[in-house]
Amino acid sequence: MIFIDKNASLRSLPAVGRLLENPQTLATFADFPLALVSQSLAEALTQLRNLWAQDPGPSELEWAQMTQFASILARAKRVLEAHLSSHLRPVLNLTGTVIHTNLGRAPLSFRALQAVHNVASQYSNLEYDLDVGTRGSRHDHVAKRLCALTGAQSALVVNNNAAAVLLALRALAQGGEAVVSRGQLVEIGGSFRIPDIMAQAGVILKEVGTSNKTHLRDYQQALGENTRLILKVHTSNYRIVGFVHQPALTDLVELARQRQIPLFEDLGSGALFDFPAAGVGDEPTVARSIKAGVDLLSFSGDKLLGGAQAGIILGRQDLVTKLRGHPWMRALRVDKMTLAALEATLTAYEDPELARREVPVVRMITASYQEMAEKVAGLAKAIATDEVLSSVLKIDQVDAVSRIGGGALPLTDLPTRCLQMRARDLTAKELFDQLRTVPPVPIIARIVHDAVVADPRTLLPGQEGMLLDSLRHWAQSKTTALQE
Ligand SMILES: *Cc1c(COP(=O)(O)O)cnc(C)c1O
Repeated sequence: MIFIDKNASLRSLPAVGRLLENPQTLATFADFPLALVSQSLAEALTQLRNLWAQDPGPSELEWAQMTQFASILARAKRVLEAHLSSHLRPVLNLTGTVIHTNLGRAPLSFRALQAVHNVASQYSNLEYDLDVGTRGSRHDHVAKRLCALTGAQSALVVNNNAAAVLLALRALAQGGEAVVSRGQLVEIGGSFRIPDIMAQAGVILKEVGTSNKTHLRDYQQALGENTRLILKVHTSNYRIVGFVHQPALTDLVELARQRQIPLFEDLGSGALFDFPAAGVGDEPTVARSIKAGVDLLSFSGDKLLGGAQAGIILGRQDLVTKLRGHPWMRALRVDKMTLAALEATLTAYEDPELARREVPVVRMITASYQEMAEKVAGLAKAIATDEVLSSVLKIDQVDAVSRIGGGALPLTDLPTRCLQMRARDLTAKELFDQLRTVPPVPIIARIVHDAVVADPRTLLPGQEGMLLDSLRHWAQSKTTALQE
């Protein structure tokens, strides 16, 4: 029996100070601050001590290898790189849900990214009017374009749609009543619930109608001396079907005009692209609400629009001016990066074909089943011809549906073709979890009927290679595990 003196082995580990004295250490970490290097070396040594203390610990041979000078340096380098890498990082969205709130909602168009880079890496005319050489307004950069695209009189952009609704309620109805249909008292995930937002804005909620039916006469009867606003809320993430009624938008507009009370519509997603014309869903465009005569409306910049996180407010000039001058405006205003991304995204909407080509969200939503089938066939072929991948992954091609997500068009199914994946000796949940943590880019798929299903609809152009790369990483870890 060989007796190993554990403590002696541990004592053979060099101290951080000695490692730092070595020229090779300095060469390896030349570009990094000394404090970080020393911290990483200390962490690497702690890891080794912990490994040694494990039961069973490393064999003598393994221990000799991992405590070699070069191995310790390599370990410290990994520690340092992990420390410096971004916590917020890309993932591959294979869920087929296009506007996926957990995965960052809308990926930006190339044009938008360029605009952000251009404006954020240099000084800009954010609040400087180049024509007259005096202070300008950050709102002017996108307002004209928004009005041209939608037919609105005036426009304003704030941090997100939640902020837009809050600001509109506060600026137009504080201390008074806002009338809302009981069928529209929505909750949009998290803490955004219409009754709570009303309370926070200092507005008294006046509910009318019932959950399923609200008539024009319900509104008529509810309007009184204290009414400041009629609020219409898009029931983004749910539909009430069956015995239901809501007055037509034009009737509400008419009523608001008669009583001289502004009508504000929270559109939720708000589309600038005519999706129904492309055969997808029944969401009318923002322009339709403006044309119908809504006094003010708001919607998100990063849902169906496919731009940066923002809340876009459109409508009557006098109302927008009121919001613009409100003391809360400063707290809700958007950053230059948002404005740059939004302006560039909007230019694509000058032409529907351009929007379809350029704006990832629009492109993904309007992509056909045929396109998906071709993508999946390509991926399946690449996997089948890869020796390592095909040895651990069983692939099928199956029909499924993609979702638009983000609370937009919850009932709209987008027919799609998916890659169904199974791995030997793994449950679907285990495979899903392993893919979720695989380097270099995590794969987020779905579990359907005991298999992992990957929908290529939400894969961006050029990401097929990244997907195969991550799959290979995963497969390699499987095969080495099998050999051990
Ligand atoms: C999504 C949504 C909001 C919130 O918009 P954000 O841009 O996420 O702040 C508000 N109202 C409705 C109806 C929505 O669908």
